[in-house]
Amino acid sequence: MTRLSLPEWPAATIARTAGRLSRRLGRGGGTTLPGLLLARLRPQAAAEMAARIPDGVILLSGTNGKTTATRLVRAALDDSGARVVANTAGSNLERGVATALLHAQSPDIALFEVDEAALAALVAQTRPRVVVLMNLFRDQLDRYGELEHLAQSWRAVVAELEPNTTLVYNADDPAVAEIGAEHPNSVSYGIDDPGVGRDRRSHASDTVNCRRCDAPLRYRLVTIGHLGQWECPSCGLTRPHPDVRVTDVVCKGMDGQTVTISSTAAGGPNNTRRHRDTDDRGSDDRDTDDRGSSGGASLVVDLRLPGLPNTYNAAAAAATALAVGLAPETVAEALGKRSAAFGRAEHISVGQTRLTTLLAKNPAGANENLRMVLDESGPLHLLILLNDRTADGQDVSWIWDVDYELLLEQDRLGSLTLSGTRAHDLALRFRYAGADPTRTAVVPEPAAALDKALQASGPDGRLYVLPTYTAMLEVRGVLASRGLVRQFWEDQ
Ligand SMILES: [Zn+2]
Repeated sequence: MTRLSLPEWPAATIARTAGRLSRRLGRGGGTTLPGLLLARLRPQAAAEMAARIPDGVILLSGTNGKTTATRLVRAALDDSGARVVANTAGSNLERGVATALLHAQSPDIALFEVDEAALAALVAQTRPRVVVLMNLFRDQLDRYGELEHLAQSWRAVVAELEPNTTLVYNADDPAVAEIGAEHPNSVSYGIDDPGVGRDRRSHASDTVNCRRCDAPLRYRLVTIGHLGQWECPSCGLTRPHPDVRVTDVVCKGMDGQTVTISSTAAGGPNNTRRHRDTDDRGSDDRDTDDRGSSGGASLVVDLRLPGLPNTYNAAAAAATALAVGLAPETVAEALGKRSAAFGRAEHISVGQTRLTTLLAKNPAGANENLRMVLDESGPLHLLILLNDRTADGQDVSWIWDVDYELLLEQDRLGSLTLSGTRAHDLALRFRYAGADPTRTAVVPEPAAALDKALQASGPDGRLYVLPTYTAMLEVRGVLASRGLVRQFWEDQ
């Protein structure tokens, strides 16, 4: 079969028109179809469009948090006055990126969240200015083994990066840090507030052995799962001192947190693009950092997002925004304005009930959500939804790695409604955790489950909804059909 390659203009026009038609016919938001078509009609089109963006392309990837971190960077770029092209949540493969590029109107800069497995292809295609590696968590169990594969793929990506590409990476994730530290032009970030750590890793931890010599790692501080201040007692490999550090975290329950972020890497090292003043060497007496950084910054961010995962998301976003030369004040203010992406600690009012949705797709995420919920006061009303569709992972046995026992040990359950295609697996899991089956409602159908849970949480109540990915879309669909939220493709 010969490969087609139309000239760019007709290829782009056909692809855009197809997207509009699909949307008009009610076939969905058209967030991937135009890109898919474009790749058929002119395979090199996305690369050509990316190359024309004057301030370059930023790619963010990681198992957990990339949608939120991307939204935070987006807020900072918007506030700086830049015209931004970005993909929508969930359209994070090549076709989603191509679709976003197709619809962009002379953008200054591009910002894409990228599926971990699509990173290599998108780096080759877009030749990014900044690549952000956030974390590698084990996803659902049926993807086990994929973690090592992804780490290897990321290592190859970093080895091939052009020297002027800035690599932003999470120093607290041993797998990511070991890869990231290889690149000469890099900015690391991490959490350095000893008040947020735990002294033991939860049993859902992923990477426990040294990436270099396979000896068990030692932790001075554990933040989430396998993240924290780690070192290898055997070969001496150790967490890099972060360039962008979260030095203080003050939690405000589900409403957010105030984080202090200090950076010794404002503007990004070796970053020779615009916004850089290279003439300031030796003129800054405040700079006492022993590594001779060209400028530091301290940001206090009133984040409207709760929980440690979001502390990391904010650190990643701040490091990225500073790396492209945004002013620290702009970044701090913009990060404070953004509320959660749909499904991720999003608050929705349903009558008098305040509903908070906390998405999780793996044990690490589910345990962090549980931890946040347990920090709330009073009896907890929970609606937990478990689906086993492709996007959720078909093996749901990861629920056995979630510490639901804590809810019962601390006697915190006000009401419990279990839903989704695998509601009965959840019921069994809770039975083993010690829940009273006569006080647990099992309602597989999500709309009916939502009604049941709302009723159980009482008037003026608070309901926490803990769904997997496709279950979250279903709950959102129910809320949208009742006029309480917008359809997801309208949500930027
Ligand atoms: Zn080692």
